[in-house]
Amino acid sequence: MKLILLGAPGAGKGTQAETISKELGIPSISTGNILREAIKNGTPTGQKAKRLMDQGQLVPDDVILDIVRERVARADCQNGFILDGVPRTVAQAEGLERLGVCIDRVVSIEIEDAVIEQRMTGRRVCGVCGASYHVTANPPRQDGICDLCGGELVVRKDDKPETVRQRLTVYHNQTEALKGFYENLGKLRLVEGNQPIEAVHRDIMNALR
Ligand code: ADP
Ligand code: ZN
Repeated sequence: MKLILLGAPGAGKGTQAETISKELGIPSISTGNILREAIKNGTPTGQKAKRLMDQGQLVPDDVILDIVRERVARADCQNGFILDGVPRTVAQAEGLERLGVCIDRVVSIEIEDAVIEQRMTGRRVCGVCGASYHVTANPPRQDGICDLCGGELVVRKDDKPETVRQRLTVYHNQTEALKGFYENLGKLRLVEGNQPIEAVHRDIMNALR
Protein backbone atom coordinates (compact mmCIF):
# COMPACT_ATOMS: atom_id res chain seq x y z
CA MET A 1 0.00 0.00 0.00
CA LYS A 2 1.41 3.33 -1.11
CA LEU A 3 -0.74 5.90 0.59
CA ILE A 4 -0.83 9.68 0.69
CA LEU A 5 -2.55 11.42 3.60
CA LEU A 6 -3.78 14.80 2.49
CA GLY A 7 -5.32 17.49 4.64
CA ALA A 8 -4.83 20.90 6.19
CA PRO A 9 -2.21 21.35 8.91
CA GLY A 10 -3.72 19.92 12.08
CA ALA A 11 -6.25 17.75 10.25
CA GLY A 12 -4.78 14.70 12.00
CA LYS A 13 -2.46 13.27 9.35
CA GLY A 14 0.42 12.52 11.71
CA THR A 15 -1.86 11.00 14.34
CA GLN A 16 -3.51 8.71 11.79
CA ALA A 17 -0.26 7.88 9.98
CA GLU A 18 1.19 6.54 13.22
CA THR A 19 -1.61 4.01 13.78
CA ILE A 20 -1.87 2.94 10.14
CA SER A 21 1.89 2.47 10.07
CA LYS A 22 1.72 0.05 13.02
CA GLU A 23 -1.32 -1.73 11.68
CA LEU A 24 -0.03 -2.27 8.14
CA GLY A 25 3.65 -2.58 9.05
CA ILE A 26 4.76 0.12 6.63
CA PRO A 27 6.73 3.26 7.51
CA SER A 28 5.18 6.67 7.77
CA ILE A 29 7.18 9.36 6.03
CA SER A 30 6.67 12.89 7.28
CA THR A 31 8.70 15.45 5.37
CA GLY A 32 7.86 17.89 8.18
CA ASN A 33 9.53 15.63 10.74
CA ILE A 34 12.50 14.97 8.45
CA LEU A 35 12.97 18.74 7.96
CA ARG A 36 12.63 19.48 11.68
CA GLU A 37 15.30 16.85 12.31
CA ALA A 38 17.52 18.49 9.67
CA ILE A 39 17.02 21.87 11.37
CA LYS A 40 17.99 20.40 14.74
CA ASN A 41 21.13 18.89 13.21
CA GLY A 42 21.99 22.14 11.40
CA THR A 43 22.39 20.47 7.99
CA PRO A 44 22.42 22.68 4.83
CA THR A 45 18.86 21.54 4.02
CA GLY A 46 17.81 22.40 7.56
CA GLN A 47 19.30 25.87 7.32
CA LYS A 48 17.47 26.50 4.05
CA ALA A 49 14.17 25.23 5.47
CA LYS A 50 14.13 26.87 8.88
CA ARG A 51 13.15 30.43 8.01
CA LEU A 52 10.43 29.29 5.61
CA MET A 53 8.93 26.85 8.09
CA ASP A 54 8.96 29.36 10.94
CA GLN A 55 6.91 31.66 8.70
CA GLY A 56 4.44 28.93 7.79
CA GLN A 57 5.68 28.85 4.17
CA LEU A 58 6.40 25.80 2.06
CA VAL A 59 9.93 24.53 1.48
CA PRO A 60 10.91 24.49 -2.26
CA ASP A 61 9.60 21.56 -4.31
CA ASP A 62 13.07 20.32 -5.34
CA VAL A 63 14.22 20.09 -1.71
CA ILE A 64 11.12 18.06 -0.82
CA LEU A 65 11.40 15.77 -3.84
CA ASP A 66 15.05 15.04 -3.01
CA ILE A 67 14.05 14.02 0.51
CA VAL A 68 11.23 11.76 -0.69
CA ARG A 69 13.28 10.15 -3.46
CA GLU A 70 16.01 9.24 -1.01
CA ARG A 71 13.58 8.02 1.66
CA VAL A 72 11.32 5.77 -0.45
CA ALA A 73 14.37 4.06 -1.95
CA ARG A 74 15.25 2.55 1.44
CA ALA A 75 14.60 -1.12 2.15
CA ASP A 76 11.80 -0.56 4.70
CA CYS A 77 9.63 0.99 1.95
CA GLN A 78 9.57 -2.16 -0.18
CA ASN A 79 6.05 -3.18 0.89
CA GLY A 80 4.69 0.34 0.85
CA PHE A 81 4.67 3.55 2.85
CA ILE A 82 2.51 6.40 4.03
CA LEU A 83 3.34 9.90 2.87
CA ASP A 84 2.26 12.33 5.59
CA GLY A 85 2.22 15.95 4.49
CA VAL A 86 3.75 15.40 1.08
CA PRO A 87 3.07 16.24 -1.73
CA ARG A 88 1.99 19.76 -0.83
CA THR A 89 1.81 21.22 -4.36
CA VAL A 90 0.73 19.92 -7.75
CA ALA A 91 4.35 20.35 -8.88
CA GLN A 92 5.43 17.95 -6.11
CA ALA A 93 2.78 15.44 -7.15
CA GLU A 94 3.99 15.64 -10.74
CA GLY A 95 7.54 15.27 -9.47
CA LEU A 96 6.58 12.05 -7.68
CA GLU A 97 5.08 10.66 -10.88
CA ARG A 98 8.26 11.54 -12.77
CA LEU A 99 10.30 9.72 -10.12
CA GLY A 100 8.13 6.66 -10.74
CA VAL A 101 6.68 6.70 -7.22
CA CYS A 102 3.28 5.20 -7.94
CA ILE A 103 0.58 5.90 -5.39
CA ASP A 104 -2.32 3.49 -4.75
CA ARG A 105 -4.63 5.68 -2.71
CA VAL A 106 -4.95 9.27 -1.53
CA VAL A 107 -7.06 9.97 1.54
CA SER A 108 -7.97 13.57 2.28
CA ILE A 109 -8.88 14.28 5.91
CA GLU A 110 -11.55 16.99 5.63
CA ILE A 111 -11.97 19.56 8.35
CA GLU A 112 -12.97 23.20 8.78
CA ASP A 113 -10.40 25.89 9.48
CA ALA A 114 -12.16 27.01 12.68
CA VAL A 115 -11.86 23.51 14.20
CA ILE A 116 -8.20 23.39 13.27
CA GLU A 117 -7.40 26.74 14.85
CA GLN A 118 -8.84 25.46 18.14
CA ARG A 119 -7.07 22.13 17.90
CA MET A 120 -3.63 23.48 17.18
CA THR A 121 -3.34 25.32 20.48
CA GLY A 122 -3.49 21.92 22.21
CA ARG A 123 -1.02 20.09 19.98
CA ARG A 124 2.18 18.80 21.57
CA VAL A 125 4.81 16.95 19.62
CA CYS A 126 7.68 14.75 20.73
CA GLY A 127 10.94 16.65 20.31
CA VAL A 128 12.74 13.36 19.68
CA CYS A 129 10.54 11.16 17.42
CA GLY A 130 7.93 13.68 16.22
CA ALA A 131 4.86 11.79 17.52
CA SER A 132 1.79 14.00 17.83
CA TYR A 133 -0.40 14.44 20.93
CA HIS A 134 -3.18 16.71 22.10
CA VAL A 135 -3.61 17.95 25.66
CA THR A 136 -7.25 16.82 25.77
CA ALA A 137 -8.08 14.78 22.63
CA ASN A 138 -5.00 12.55 22.73
CA PRO A 139 -2.97 13.06 25.91
CA PRO A 140 0.21 11.07 26.60
CA ARG A 141 0.13 8.52 29.44
CA GLN A 142 2.51 10.70 31.43
CA ASP A 143 2.30 14.51 31.29
CA GLY A 144 4.85 16.02 28.90
CA ILE A 145 6.48 12.68 28.00
CA CYS A 146 6.24 10.75 24.72
CA ASP A 147 4.55 7.32 25.05
CA LEU A 148 6.68 5.92 22.24
CA CYS A 149 10.21 7.03 23.10
CA GLY A 150 10.16 8.89 26.43
CA GLY A 151 11.15 12.14 24.71
CA GLU A 152 10.01 15.53 25.94
CA LEU A 153 6.80 16.96 24.43
CA VAL A 154 7.03 20.49 23.08
CA VAL A 155 4.89 23.09 21.30
CA ARG A 156 5.86 23.36 17.67
CA LYS A 157 7.19 26.76 16.67
CA ASP A 158 4.79 26.97 13.73
CA ASP A 159 1.75 26.22 15.91
CA LYS A 160 1.39 29.86 17.02
CA PRO A 161 -2.12 31.11 16.07
CA GLU A 162 -0.82 33.62 13.45
CA THR A 163 1.39 30.97 11.87
CA VAL A 164 -1.44 28.43 11.86
CA ARG A 165 -3.62 30.92 9.97
CA GLN A 166 -0.80 31.51 7.49
CA ARG A 167 -0.38 27.74 7.00
CA LEU A 168 -4.11 27.35 6.41
CA THR A 169 -3.94 30.04 3.71
CA VAL A 170 -1.01 28.22 2.09
CA TYR A 171 -3.00 24.98 2.28
CA HIS A 172 -6.00 26.48 0.50
CA ASN A 173 -3.86 28.29 -2.10
CA GLN A 174 -1.34 25.58 -2.93
CA THR A 175 -2.22 22.17 -1.52
CA GLU A 176 -5.98 21.79 -1.85
CA ALA A 177 -5.67 21.65 -5.67
CA LEU A 178 -4.09 18.23 -5.18
CA LYS A 179 -7.55 16.84 -4.50
CA GLY A 180 -8.52 17.57 -8.12
CA PHE A 181 -5.24 16.13 -9.35
CA TYR A 182 -5.78 12.77 -7.60
CA GLU A 183 -9.54 12.78 -8.22
CA ASN A 184 -8.77 12.79 -11.94
CA LEU A 185 -6.56 9.75 -11.41
CA GLY A 186 -9.41 8.00 -9.56
CA LYS A 187 -7.32 7.68 -6.40
CA LEU A 188 -8.96 10.20 -4.07
CA ARG A 189 -11.15 9.31 -1.08
CA LEU A 190 -12.54 11.86 1.41
CA VAL A 191 -12.79 11.20 5.14
CA GLU A 192 -14.49 13.42 7.74
CA GLY A 193 -11.79 14.67 10.10
CA ASN A 194 -13.98 16.31 12.71
CA GLN A 195 -14.71 13.19 14.73
CA PRO A 196 -12.86 11.20 17.41
CA ILE A 197 -9.46 9.79 16.44
CA GLU A 198 -10.73 6.17 16.37
CA ALA A 199 -13.64 7.09 14.09
CA VAL A 200 -11.32 8.85 11.65
CA HIS A 201 -9.09 5.78 11.72
CA ARG A 202 -12.00 3.46 10.95
CA ASP A 203 -13.12 5.62 8.02
CA ILE A 204 -9.59 5.72 6.60
CA MET A 205 -9.22 1.93 6.80
CA ASN A 206 -12.55 1.57 4.96
CA ALA A 207 -11.34 4.00 2.31
CA LEU A 208 -8.30 1.79 1.66
CA ARG A 209 -10.33 -1.24 0.62
P1 ADP B 1 -1.26 17.02 11.03
O1 ADP B 1 -0.22 15.94 10.99
O2 ADP B 1 -2.34 16.84 9.99
O3 ADP B 1 -0.70 18.41 11.04
P2 ADP B 1 -1.73 16.06 13.76
O4 ADP B 1 -1.90 14.59 13.57
O5 ADP B 1 -0.46 16.54 14.37
O6 ADP B 1 -2.07 16.87 12.41
O7 ADP B 1 -2.98 16.56 14.63
C1 ADP B 1 -3.09 17.92 15.02
C2 ADP B 1 -3.55 18.00 16.48
O8 ADP B 1 -4.89 17.54 16.61
C3 ADP B 1 -2.75 17.12 17.41
O9 ADP B 1 -2.67 17.77 18.67
C4 ADP B 1 -3.56 15.84 17.51
O10 ADP B 1 -3.31 15.14 18.73
C5 ADP B 1 -4.96 16.37 17.46
N1 ADP B 1 -5.88 15.47 16.78
C6 ADP B 1 -5.62 14.65 15.73
N2 ADP B 1 -6.73 14.00 15.34
C7 ADP B 1 -7.74 14.44 16.15
C8 ADP B 1 -9.14 14.16 16.25
N3 ADP B 1 -9.76 13.27 15.42
N4 ADP B 1 -9.86 14.80 17.21
C9 ADP B 1 -9.25 15.68 18.04
N5 ADP B 1 -7.95 15.99 18.00
C10 ADP B 1 -7.18 15.38 17.07
ZN1 ZN C 1 8.80 10.26 20.93
